[in-house]
Order: sequence, then C-alpha cells, then structure tokens
Amino acid sequence: MTEKYETHEHDVLVIGAGGAGLRAAIAALGEGASVGVVCKSLLGKAHTVMAEGGIAAALGNVDAADSWKTHFRDTMTGGKFLNNWRMAQIHAQESSDRVKELEQWGALFDRTPDGDILQRAFGGHTYKRLCHVGDRTGLEMIRTLQDKGVQLGIDVYMECTVTRLFRSGGRIAGAFAYWRESGRFVVFKAKSIVIATGGIGKAWRITSNSWEYTGDGMALAYDAGAELIDMEFVQFHPTGMIWPPGVQGILVTEAVRGEGGTLTNEDGERFMKRYDPEKMELSTRDVVARAIYTEVKEGRGTEHGGAYLDISHKPAEYVIRKLPSMYHQFKDLADVDITKGPMEVGPTCHYMMGGIRVDAETGETTVPGLHAAGEAAAGLHGANRLGGNSLSDLLVFGRRAGLAAGAAAKKTSPAPIDSAEIDRAARDAVEPFERTSGEDPYAIHRDLEEKMQDLVGIFRVEKDLKQALTEIAQLKQRLARVKVTGSRIFNPGWHLAIDLQSMLTVTEAVTLSALAREESRGAHSRIDFPKTDAAWGKKNNVIAREGAAMKLSPSPVPEMPPDLKQLLEK
Ligand SMILES: Cc1cc2nc3c(=O)[nH]c(=O)nc-3n(C[C@H](O)[C@H](O)[C@H](O)COP(=O)(O)OP(=O)(O)OC[C@H]3O[C@@H](n4cnc5c(N)ncnc54)[C@H](O)[C@@H]3O)c2cc1C
Repeated sequence: MTEKYETHEHDVLVIGAGGAGLRAAIAALGEGASVGVVCKSLLGKAHTVMAEGGIAAALGNVDAADSWKTHFRDTMTGGKFLNNWRMAQIHAQESSDRVKELEQWGALFDRTPDGDILQRAFGGHTYKRLCHVGDRTGLEMIRTLQDKGVQLGIDVYMECTVTRLFRSGGRIAGAFAYWRESGRFVVFKAKSIVIATGGIGKAWRITSNSWEYTGDGMALAYDAGAELIDMEFVQFHPTGMIWPPGVQGILVTEAVRGEGGTLTNEDGERFMKRYDPEKMELSTRDVVARAIYTEVKEGRGTEHGGAYLDISHKPAEYVIRKLPSMYHQFKDLADVDITKGPMEVGPTCHYMMGGIRVDAETGETTVPGLHAAGEAAAGLHGANRLGGNSLSDLLVFGRRAGLAAGAAAKKTSPAPIDSAEIDRAARDAVEPFERTSGEDPYAIHRDLEEKMQDLVGIFRVEKDLKQALTEIAQLKQRLARVKVTGSRIFNPGWHLAIDLQSMLTVTEAVTLSALAREESRGAHSRIDFPKTDAAWGKKNNVIAREGAAMKLSPSPVPEMPPDLKQLLEK
C-alpha cells in the first residue's frame, strides 16, 4: 500500500537520537524488538552532546550522606511540588544504576582519588551529586550510548525529519518523514513509537538551544491526540554568553558556579546575597536568572547588560582541567581568558520543563503505543528543573519507555495506515512550493522569536500574554501563506517552513498555560501575580486538541503517598 513512497517497518520506531532516544532504542532491542532510530541531524549531534556539567545521581561517592531520598526531596523542592511524585521517585531511585551501567558500557568519568566516579556541586542539590567528565559530560554519554546501540543493531535514519504520526484503530501505526538532503518522502510503519525529540528553545531569540529544538515531538504528539502538561514552565538558564552579539545565548555551564564561580554586578557586589543568602550562586536556576535580570533592569548591569561570573581566583591549571570547553569558548569566541578575569553572562532560554504527558512507569502517552521520554516528555521536573537532572532523566525514562514500547510491540500486530492520510501528509509538506506569492519563513521565525522573547520571557504579565496569543494567531495566518523557492533538495527555507508548524503549536500551548496560571512558581514569574498560590500548587495545566482548537484544563497534581510526604517534611 505504501509502494509510492520509500517504506521501512520496525517493531519500535524511536524519533530522536539524543540520550533519551538512544537509551530507549537499547532497551527496546533488549526486549527482542527490531528498532529504527530516526533523527534530524547526524547521529551523535543531538542536544545531549552539548551537555556540559554532569549527570545527577545520588551515588554518594563524594558526600557519603547522599541518598535517593535526598535526591527526591531536592527534585520536588526545586520543582515547587508540581512534579509527578512517582516520576521523581523512580528517577531518584534508578539514576545511580543507570550511571553505573553507562560506566560499564565504557563511559570514562572524572575520578575521586579512590577511583570512584567524581561528583560536583550544582544548584539546588544538597550534596555533590553530578557525575561528570570535565565540562563535556554529554559527549561521553552520547558516544557511549551510540557505540552500544550500533553494536546491538539499531537501524539509524539520519538527517530525516518526521512531520506526522499516523494512527490506526486508535493505536499508533507509523510516521511520515522526509530526507533532508534529497527532500524525498519516507514512511515508517511501527507497532510502537517513542518520541525523544527534545525541546523548543528555537522559538526564543536568546537561547542556548540549536536549530533542532523546534518542539516537533510535542506538536506531533499533540496532533496525534496526546496531551501536553506544564507548558508554562520554560527554563531560562541564568548564564549564557552576552557578548559579542553573534554568540549571545550560548551556554555558560552551571559547573562554573559548581566549581566556585562567583557572580557580581557592576558595583562589584555579590548580589546573590540579597536573593538567596544561604545558597548564593548555587541557588536554583529560576532564582539566579531572575536575580541577574533584576540587577540589569535596576541599573546595576555590566557594560553589555548582564552580570560578571568569575572563576579566576582558582588556579589556571584547575580551571582549564575542570572547564576546558568554557576556557576555549571564551578565548575563541569573546577573546576573554577566564583564568585571568570574569565572564559577562545573562539569562538564556535553555530547557522545557513542560511537554508530553506520560505514564510514570512506561512513558506511554494518552495515545496507545505512543511513548515519550527526555526533554520532549514532562512531569519529572515540575515548575523548575535542577541542573544535571536532565541527563539522568534521559537514562531512567528513556530506558523505561524503550522497555515498554518493545514489550508492547511484541504483543501487537502491525496496523494498516490509510493511504489517503499518507498522501495528505505529502501534499501538506509540498504546499509551500506551490504558492506563486507568499511569506518568507525566515521573517515569520524572526518575528516569533522576538515576540516570545519580549512577551513570554522570564517575567510575564496578562497584557503581554494576551498580546502574544494574538501575535501567534497572526503568525499562523502568515504561515498558511508561507512560500519557499527552489527545489526539495537540501532546502533550509523549506525545512524551516515545516518546523514553524511545530513551533507555533508549542508556543501557543506555552502562552495559553502561562496566561492561565495566575501565580508565580518556579520558572513562571507573573508580575501581576508575584506570589505562589496554594490553590495553583495543586494543579497542573493540561493541553489537548479538540477539533482544530487548543483546550486547556487544570488537572489535580497526583496525591503523594504518606511515606514520601514525610520525606519532604524533613
Ligand atoms: C548547552 C547545553 C548544556 C546542557 N548541559 C546539561 C548538563 O550538564 N546536565 C543536564 O542534565 N542537562 C544539560 N542540558 C540539557 C540536556 O542536554 C537536554 O535536556 C537533553 O540532552 C535532551 O536530550 P533528549 O534526548 O531529550 O533530546 P536531544 O538530545 O536534543 O535529542 C533530540 C533528537 O531528536 C531529533 N529530532 C527532533 N525533531 C525531530 C523530527 N521532527 N524528526 C526526527 N528527529 C527529530 C534530533 O535530531 C535529535 O536527534 C544542557 C543543554 C544544553 C543546550
């Protein structure tokens, strides 16, 4: 039935080859499933490879008092108790085993003098908990997972973008995609699908995220009937580069503060003492980002509108060994030697706490057979993610999603995909070529980034959020008239026109949820509702599709069992 298009068939299709996708693929293979992994860029180039500071796991190698219970408490406290408690529990209990497993598979971590995995301090973690490889932890993680996956026999489809999911009889049945190089279409048939496509940072102007973060997985799942949750919670990392303009937003890892870096304003004051005197620079990201933003707004910002971050009081050899990427990043991109003086930093859009609503045990969405893991999924981090808790999230929940998807696929027969739906997906994809006049996708993207930066940023207010919804609606109308020129052979304008569909769906969900939540909590700060509200503390915002409309409905935060509640009281 699909002879018209190149077709591949697998028990499990994993969309995304970052940490979550690769870990899911390895787990599904272990269940005896045939596994295909499809990714937009080259294998090994996902966001996971950019991760710097480390993987959070309560191994207790440096601080023996650490335990899963403290990790659970830190994660829930950091997430302002909106987290799915069961996910936080599983994550805290399983992340140590996942890190040890990674080591057995060949990952070479930095070591304590006794030869154990070395752990460093990070914001919001009570103990030194981040297992790391200098400031290149993600590279080691992806290299290890990639080697393991390829050795076990995953089939990889690189530089291939999925644009639609298909259902059959209510269950997931496959996906439609195009090869980025040739523009040719491809159909994947699968009994289970795992979405591991990451976040949405490219919808903001100042971001640490790369071109791949356009919210595709969230939009694909939403269009297929899955629910999204906690979409208002977008993390602005406090420290991105701010100068020169061409490098604005590139991440300055929290490991700089973890290794003892201090933040000062233009007056030389360590201003964190006014925002969190106890934890200072190791306060949670939401607090530090708001602090820097406020210092700048109130006229105490640095020359280029940020704060100074200084690690030069440490020996130069130590800085270069522990933070090699930061050393080279500042030397090469800003002509600053961080062993001799401070860096200038400011907040940058970094991570999406919200995403696809999943079952804690299996990562299954509300669509049977469709699973999600990693940054594309939501629940673990609540209103704010602690640094290091993403890489452990990928390992713990990537594995669980892969196990469940693999096991389910074995019990399921392949379902036919309606050929008319496949043709519709192909028609929709080529539509931008068929218009004789229309909008430039780059102009639409630029305007979206500006509006999200200005209206749905660190601080939010009703008037701006309402205006943002109007702007997004107008951008959708412009996208309906988008025009691209040239052929389908490697055409970045066409790729962007397709990505914009996802970005507009996801930013609408973010803005709608941000408008609904009339309180400030974690990464969501409302100028008009500056306090936390106990009633909102009991609600997650859930987004679902109803016909063509996006519907938001608050859903009660799952009730925690008494033994876990007790841990939080301590
Ligand atoms: C600079 C930086 C530093 C960070 N440092 C840390 C850290 O030290 N510790 C920590 O815990 N977290 C860190 N994070 C966060 C963490 O790296 C990410 O949250 C995490 O790697 C996301 O992993 P993932 O597997 O969900 O997605 P990714 O690793 O981003 O992978 C997404 C995959 O999906 C594919 N994809 C996307 N859309 C499509 C589509 N439509 N079709 C096909 N494929 C698609 C992409 O090509 C890619 O392969 C950092 C993030 C950044 C940006």
